[in-house]
Amino acid sequence: MARVFNFSAGPAMLPEPVLKKAAEEMLDYKGSGMSVMEMSHRSKQFEEIIQSAEMTLREIMNIPDTYYVLFLQGGASLQFAMVPLNLFRKSKKADYINTGSWAKKAISEAKKYGTVNVVASSEDKNFAEIPKWDESKFSQDADYFHITTNNTIEGTTIRELPSTGEVPLVADMSSNILGEEYKVTKFGLIYAGAQKNIGPAGVTVVIVKKDLVGNALPITPTMLDYKIHAENTSLYNTPPCYAIYISKLVFEWVKAEGGVKAIAERNKAKAEMLYKTIDESKLYKAPVTNPKFRSFMNIPFTLPTDELTDQFLNEAKKIGLVTLKGHRSVGGCRASIYNAMPPEGVKKLVQFMQDFELKNKV
Ligand SMILES: *Cc1c(COP(=O)(O)O)cnc(C)c1O
Repeated sequence: MARVFNFSAGPAMLPEPVLKKAAEEMLDYKGSGMSVMEMSHRSKQFEEIIQSAEMTLREIMNIPDTYYVLFLQGGASLQFAMVPLNLFRKSKKADYINTGSWAKKAISEAKKYGTVNVVASSEDKNFAEIPKWDESKFSQDADYFHITTNNTIEGTTIRELPSTGEVPLVADMSSNILGEEYKVTKFGLIYAGAQKNIGPAGVTVVIVKKDLVGNALPITPTMLDYKIHAENTSLYNTPPCYAIYISKLVFEWVKAEGGVKAIAERNKAKAEMLYKTIDESKLYKAPVTNPKFRSFMNIPFTLPTDELTDQFLNEAKKIGLVTLKGHRSVGGCRASIYNAMPPEGVKKLVQFMQDFELKNKV
């Protein structure tokens, strides 16, 4: 069966060369006579896999030695709790910018462990934009400042980072890590669930400045303490071995494609192709109208009626353009076009959208 172009928001497409390599190595990983799935996480071969995953990620994201790179479980959602549990170390106060459904969840989790100050929110605008912030409202004594760099559900991105001075900036980068260039040293902590731009579901990457680790709240369960995972190089207990292995292959693929910079440029061109089609059309509308805030990764758009939306989704599916349905909380359509979505997939979608509009003039 032919492979489709999968516009799912996550788990999402993986690069085809990665899947092929994994298939080749499935039954016998490098002469071991077993697959990585069957391998002890204490084996020499798996140690090489996890070390090489870390090294390649450090290289492609330019992560200095002053940061730990951790491969954890529990998804980005567990980081909503792990971040406050570990970083509420002095004032037990944190500033958050509320830019969407995921930010809201992060906020409500942090409130369980300390004081949360929402310094800006676009909830009253249906999160269709990034809110303005006023630096004079930032808490000088906050233990950290939390943002969501890319709002997967609403399709917005924070492109200008807030200036937080001495307060460490924490970013949920689940849906645009490796898809856009960021200077890691601007952040105290970056976290991302893998299933959008890194690898299969099951592993979560945490990049954290070493001096922020080691002051977890006394109630912190052992498994949720960054220090435990850092001291044990993410091998305190059995890690998601296979997901880490695939992530390693993805990091190598990113490097081979020219690195994050080259991929980010390609992503921008892909997104512009799609936004142009939407903006020039009378049938499709993008809820995020200001180009400054538009995500390059997740592009929501609507059609005038539910009937037309269903018809659009059904016809798209017939030609191998799948999972274009919008998030259940917002409806409409959404094209998630992460790193592994080839430009040909977006071209095919754009062509289909134009043909569909010609046949269904409004
Ligand atoms: C998908 C997503 C999450 C949730 O990730 P899980 O790994 O399912 O917990 C959190 N934040 C953002 C920005 C996301 O895109």
